[in-house]
Amino acid sequence: MRGLMQDHPLLVSSLIRHAARHHAHARITSVDAEGRVTRTSWPGIEHDAKRLAQALLRRGVRPGVRIATLAWNTAPHLALYYGVSGMGAVLHTVNPRLFPEQIAYILKDAEDTHLFVDPSVLPVLDGVKDQLPPGLRAVVLMGEAAAVPELPVEVLSMDALLAAEDGDVEWPALDEAAASSLCYTSGTTGMPKGVLYSHRSTLLHAMMAVSPDVFGFSARDVAMPVVPMFHVNAWGIPYAAAITGTSLVLPGPRLDPASLHGLFEAEGVTFSAGVPTIWTMLLQWLRAAPARRFTNPPRLVVGGTALPMPVTEGFRREYGVPIVHAWGMTEISPIGSTNSRQAGNADWDEARMLDYSRKQGRPQFGVDFRVRDDAGQEIAHDGVAFGELEVRGPWTARAYFNRATDPAFTDDGWFRTGDVVTVDALGAIEIVDRAKDVIKSGGEWISSITLENLALAHPDVQLAAAIPVRHPKWDERPLLLVVRKPGTDPSAQSILAVLEGHVAKWWMPDRVEFVDSLPLTATGKLWKAELKRLYRDYTLPA
Ligand code: AMP
Repeated sequence: MRGLMQDHPLLVSSLIRHAARHHAHARITSVDAEGRVTRTSWPGIEHDAKRLAQALLRRGVRPGVRIATLAWNTAPHLALYYGVSGMGAVLHTVNPRLFPEQIAYILKDAEDTHLFVDPSVLPVLDGVKDQLPPGLRAVVLMGEAAAVPELPVEVLSMDALLAAEDGDVEWPALDEAAASSLCYTSGTTGMPKGVLYSHRSTLLHAMMAVSPDVFGFSARDVAMPVVPMFHVNAWGIPYAAAITGTSLVLPGPRLDPASLHGLFEAEGVTFSAGVPTIWTMLLQWLRAAPARRFTNPPRLVVGGTALPMPVTEGFRREYGVPIVHAWGMTEISPIGSTNSRQAGNADWDEARMLDYSRKQGRPQFGVDFRVRDDAGQEIAHDGVAFGELEVRGPWTARAYFNRATDPAFTDDGWFRTGDVVTVDALGAIEIVDRAKDVIKSGGEWISSITLENLALAHPDVQLAAAIPVRHPKWDERPLLLVVRKPGTDPSAQSILAVLEGHVAKWWMPDRVEFVDSLPLTATGKLWKAELKRLYRDYTLPA
């Protein structure tokens, strides 16, 4: 027997239609590259999105066609989110911080027909202008540019495109399984891979994301996504905010602590989300002057890389700012788990909870977890045994764009995350490494992340990376690379002393090397593949 409920497709356009109709008083505040602030609203965004859809239709764009952006978190980018997906085309957000070869590769792989560019990103385009894909018909400027490089395609203005339309259209009824947006993984090894989200996956993910133990959005919230709109759809915040009618502050490219703090205060931001680096810098900046406080402490969601405990502690104890640690991936839309309190630890005191906050937390509804060891057996949930995390669910990818197969997808329908985790009795995961970064010493695994986090507890260590180097007896042994804090000169012994007693003897790095800097990927993570390449010929004596 079938249910007797109405059948409505889950479409991205339904989000903007709802927010525009029922949350006209929420504010959308946008900061451009020059620091200029403009204000609009959900109805304003829908009007722009509809005019954009009309303009693209007039230019021959049909459902399924890819439209690329090279842009920051701004209101015009938000209008593109809704206009492109709403009309049935596919919004392809490109990270302007990628290397030119990667950008060229991504544009070609996606076969984008139009490329919307923030004027401040034009220098990036200059670097790839000779490698633009043959099918690219136009570059569209999202604002006024002082100088435009000589380009082999038509250059248009987004303002002019919008000015020629009236926005008097209805959103089309699309298939909810149709593609809505495309985002490439950062590609720390090999070339980036495309993850193609659907309207349905995007909506279901957003409905989960607003829930209390994730973003906890209400119509009175003012949310500032610091995580870029070119990185997994800013963790879904632009969609989630429309469900609840939350106000948005889109901070543009200026993410220095003073600019961010200015926006927190001036715009009454109640919620923000971003990677640990951003919050570490903000914490250091706050501490530099006693007058720097939050009038109303916001809530933060932090993820992307492991969150150092001193950061959580500093925000919580000194500034009253609660942080929820989240884990996710481009392939999972991205939210998989969060570490907010639950029945099992509701009564833990603050010190115990702070220590626990280093973990990435429990899966959210819609994200099924399985953790298996090298032999394919599910591991014990004791917080000690570890294995690779696999996930499945309605917002997890089942394949990569343009790739027939990939070993990341198992035959029985799971996605292999490549993250090596423990699971504890409360069901929370803790990432101990990337599967490809674990150090395999005599057949046993050493977690590089554990060594790095311990080294970071040394007061003079700014950055640390543990990588495997060749060893005649044990195959691989850990080498610890350390960047010193400016003006300090710690000894290798003092750094090893911090690790001692916290890890097994055979986990201790064989050597500590001091370096001036460590290579980072375009999303700001340690670039382990490059480090391993650089230290390929480093051999330890037996
Ligand atoms: P991306 O697809 O670029 O978002 O990268 C996803 C990867 O980032 C994951 O597979 C993890 O290795 C890492 N990651 C994401 N969130 C966390 C977190 N909270 N702690 C540690 N690593 C994380």
